[in-house]
Amino acid sequence: MFKDRLEDIKNTIEETKSRKGCTQDVTVMAVSKRFPLSDITNAYETSGHTVFGENRIQEALEKAEKLKNLPIELHFIGHLQKNKVKYLKDNFTMIHSLDSLKLANLMQGHFERENRIQDVLVQVNIASDENKSGVGEEETFLMCDYVMQSENLNLRGLMMMPPLVDDAEENRPHFARMKKLFDKCNDIKRYNIDVLSMGMSDDHLIAVEEGSTMVRIGTALFGQRQY
Ligand SMILES: *Cc1c(COP(=O)(O)O)cnc(C)c1O
Repeated sequence: MFKDRLEDIKNTIEETKSRKGCTQDVTVMAVSKRFPLSDITNAYETSGHTVFGENRIQEALEKAEKLKNLPIELHFIGHLQKNKVKYLKDNFTMIHSLDSLKLANLMQGHFERENRIQDVLVQVNIASDENKSGVGEEETFLMCDYVMQSENLNLRGLMMMPPLVDDAEENRPHFARMKKLFDKCNDIKRYNIDVLSMGMSDDHLIAVEEGSTMVRIGTALFGQRQY
């Protein structure tokens, strides 16, 4: 049952935080990609959970449309192709995957015409993994400065996807580097950001220990994806 799994995950997160002396609030996002809409509505009805994430734009837009009368926050966490920017309305609470200046520029123009402000996270490819999108660590401030100057984009924080590894502990240094970068964003650059989106089913406790404020959990909540 979703409700029991969610409760277990939240409890272990709280235990981990108190054991390690972590003080940040951690939001659990339920990643519902490739699961039917009914899994989201069931999850909401049985547990009251309201924070969900999707990574494919077509599927995400369709689900957003069908969920718009429920108090559900849908986050977009996948790579956003530039030719899909035009479909963005008020579908997503937050877009976690701002991964290039060009995309930021297109999104700013789009949301200016839409006359609304979109919350975004800058995706950082902290491990310089050629299989992952995101700006390099050294480009992060340039990118964030650009977003800060974009009146219709509201910079809320940073997001990262670690490399695929056998043992999640291997990625601990990447999570720690992200937290350092996140702190610099506030201490040196004064962006005043509050979201550090990192950690998935297999590594979320390590991410929390290293300072994550939002974990994105798919399989551990919904079960194995079919494709
Ligand atoms: C699928 C996905 C997740 C969740 O992964 P699980 O291993 O199923 O928990 C998290 N973040 C992103 C960006 C994803 O695409």
